Amino acid sequence: MKIGILNLQGAVSEHYDITKKAIENLGINAECENVRYADDVASCDGIIISGGESTVIGKIIFERGIDKIIKENNIPVFGTCAGMVLLAKKIDFNQPLLGLMDIVVKRNAFGSQKNSFESNIKFLGEDFNGVFIRAPAISSYDKTKDDIKVLATLDDQVIAIKQGHNIACSFHPELTDDTRIHEYFLKEVLQCVE
Ligand code: GLN
Repeated sequence: MKIGILNLQGAVSEHYDITKKAIENLGINAECENVRYADDVASCDGIIISGGESTVIGKIIFERGIDKIIKENNIPVFGTCAGMVLLAKKIDFNQPLLGLMDIVVKRNAFGSQKNSFESNIKFLGEDFNGVFIRAPAISSYDKTKDDIKVLATLDDQVIAIKQGHNIACSFHPELTDDTRIHEYFLKEVLQCVE
């Protein structure tokens, strides 16, 4: 199994390092690689989209035809922060989106860079340190879809959600040493390759 870390812009190396650790912890036969072009993405079983600037990452995704490859091959995507924005079907801003999840996302829902904060959050009932940097939040999601599951909330706002094998997360697990959320995504991808 191969996990591609989309290396276009943003906090890419942190995702690479934590994904490597998560693979080791799970003891699975998998590799991870930074990917930049559609052909590299096509060889992956799962893709991680980092935090960064979603307008920039989205523009390059479309210019390089990466959106088509992900959709044609149904490649599971784990998006953090800017990655969450790109997974949404609808947001409060006009920009290119992958639109893989039936969620509506509000960008910068917790304020600007200087309002960055860390908070204890519960992800599927377990405690985590959530790192929020110009973080988006999910303002609504399609409750008629059986394949959607809320994974975490903060003050009534949904901050992590899954639909099918795609996972969107407002905060940055890659900026901690905690591999559990990456392990959760790896297990999703494993289900698709088995
Ligand atoms: N607010 C940024 C955006 O919408 C995301 C910030 C981040 O990834 N840290 O692109």
